[in-house]
Amino acid sequence: MPETIVESFGEGAEPLLIVHGGAGHRSTPLTQEDIDSAHAALHTVITAGHSVLKNGGTAVDAVVAAVRELEDAPNFNAGHGAALTSAGTAELDASIMDGAGNSGAVTGVTTVRNPVTGARAVMDQSEHVLFGAPTDSQLATWGVETAEQDYFITDKRRVELENFQKAPNPVFQHGTVGAVARDASGHVAAATSTGGIVNQEPGRIGDTPLVGGGTFANDQTVAVSCTGTGEVFITEVAAHSVHARVDLAGEDPATATGQVLDRIAERGGMGGIIVVPAVGAGIAAYNSGDMYYGSASSTGLSTHV
Ligand code: ASP
Repeated sequence: MPETIVESFGEGAEPLLIVHGGAGHRSTPLTQEDIDSAHAALHTVITAGHSVLKNGGTAVDAVVAAVRELEDAPNFNAGHGAALTSAGTAELDASIMDGAGNSGAVTGVTTVRNPVTGARAVMDQSEHVLFGAPTDSQLATWGVETAEQDYFITDKRRVELENFQKAPNPVFQHGTVGAVARDASGHVAAATSTGGIVNQEPGRIGDTPLVGGGTFANDQTVAVSCTGTGEVFITEVAAHSVHARVDLAGEDPATATGQVLDRIAERGGMGGIIVVPAVGAGIAAYNSGDMYYGSASSTGLSTHV
């Protein structure tokens, strides 16, 4: 099992954004071209989210701006370039939560161009929290942009699926994207989006669209976005567990996140968690060997591939 890596970003109550592009274990090292492309994509993502915060925007707007860019980039497992099911289809999940306790999520969507916008529409425009495969008319009512299924499916993902089906290895199935932010008013928010795991059975749903599992936010404690072995993140209620450890056990966010990742490892899972607290340094932590992530604060912008 790889060791747990924890990196901290930002301080005080300043606006802060942290994003991830999925944790996993790479079967072969990335090519230089892949590395350069992932750094460039993360740079675009962070710039989009951080410019919202710099201009006085909300944490919710910042995480949506960042996750939209992550979904648009073919480098990461969400939106365009999502991992494919065993049937070769893209089934997408996303969730969002703000620190006041509002949340929205969609699961099993096949035509929402940016699934995070579907999640946000559920949060802002419906009486509910989670929709499974919303209908075309619901999406139209919410003003959510759609795309043909082909838009989501890239050649790279087709090859990945073919290779996986020839030589299955669950260690190499992962990915997901997410963002956590704190705005100038001290509010936090989290959003997460995914295509799930490579070769998943159609209909399988992981932790990403589940508030408490893959995403959680509370203005008194932390905003959290997870990536990793969905089944274990769900049963450990991973994102909420980070909040609960900070809230009830008084742990600092880095300790709480490390404890949750340790617990996930004990149960045979692995992955990564990004956290922005109400006050203090944010963190990116992972125990899977690799994670794409980045951050922006007053001290600058960083990307990790
Ligand atoms: N947690 C995601 C899922 O289970 C996959 C991942 O983040 O690797 O769908």
